[in-house]
Amino acid sequence: MSLYLDYNATCPVRPQAIDAIAQTLGRVGNPSSIHAAGRTARAVVEAARNDIAALVGGPASTVVFTGCGTEANALAIDSAVATGSRRLIISAIEHDSVIETAKVSGAAVEYLPVTADGVADLAWLQARLAAWDPADGRPFVALMLANNETGVIQPVLEASELVRAAEGWLHVDAIQAAGKILTDSRAMGADTLAISGHKFGGPQGVGALTFGPRATLVRRQHGGGQERGRRAGTENVAGIAGLAAAARAAMVEAIDPAPRDAAAAALKALGAVVIGEAAPRLPNTLCVAMPGWGSDLQVMALDLAGLMVSAGSACSSGKVKASHVLVAMGQDELGGCAIRVSGGWGTTAADWASFVETWSKSHSQFVARHRAPAA
Ligand code: PLP
Repeated sequence: MSLYLDYNATCPVRPQAIDAIAQTLGRVGNPSSIHAAGRTARAVVEAARNDIAALVGGPASTVVFTGCGTEANALAIDSAVATGSRRLIISAIEHDSVIETAKVSGAAVEYLPVTADGVADLAWLQARLAAWDPADGRPFVALMLANNETGVIQPVLEASELVRAAEGWLHVDAIQAAGKILTDSRAMGADTLAISGHKFGGPQGVGALTFGPRATLVRRQHGGGQERGRRAGTENVAGIAGLAAAARAAMVEAIDPAPRDAAAAALKALGAVVIGEAAPRLPNTLCVAMPGWGSDLQVMALDLAGLMVSAGSACSSGKVKASHVLVAMGQDELGGCAIRVSGGWGTTAADWASFVETWSKSHSQFVARHRAPAA
């Protein structure tokens, strides 16, 4: 058997997106060309912009296509720094694309702590913003909508009220949330919001950033005047078409958390601990620790049994490293025994049941191998 439950790393491309990509790739045309082929390509990009605007809220003119989610996050952070933010408040559980970009942005970086359930500590944020030193420029706060490792949903609306009162800029990385829960940037008070195609059934290598009236984007990439001068480079027309097709499909469906919850209950009955269980979470994500059974051993044993999950967040080197998310939650010890199981648009209740069966079997084998010999 082969079962892929690592959607938060990347998810299968939806058939609608594959069709849209294939159709677009089959036609020539640079959206900047004024002849018929160029105009057709331009029409694809602008129709996609409308679809993405429907997903993220706000007018289509506020959607900028990027090369990935990482770039969308970086465009927001670098723009804030370029327009006068000299100190960035980054939640301690942000994705590396936010943390590492903030670190090299030239601004000072401070980390917004989270509770043991992985929820941002808004009392801390309120106190910090109240004591803001005007010499640090405009406050910039990055708070993701849902965490990629635990699925824990963050109180973005409440955070936006605090940030707005401080005349700051709130950036929301909605890359894991998009297509799974509502991601209306205007409704949640985000000044900028990032998404990425490959997390909701679009292709890899295409993302978008939307911005509100209080955010000014400053180009990071220079060259042509694409994306109204905000992001130079010929648009990835086929990728953008696939991104939009995935968004249209994701917007009309809802993921039922019940099979995930049933799986969580079955593992808990065997002694496992669900991370972030008391907090609202994405319906597709289960971060679960089994004390005594290391994450990497779990992932390898499950892989041998044909089941693909991950240990914390997948990192580019393929190595398993300590999760800064679980460390920020004070779950360092459990973190070493945690795996992330994530389904999505193609996952069925039977898949979750099959996960439980495989995991239980692998766990029994692990226990049998490590049982102390009888005295
Ligand atoms: N932000 C979050 C929360 C993510 O989960 C990811 C991908 O894992 C990214 C950003 C980076 O997105 P991309 O892979 O499109 O660059």
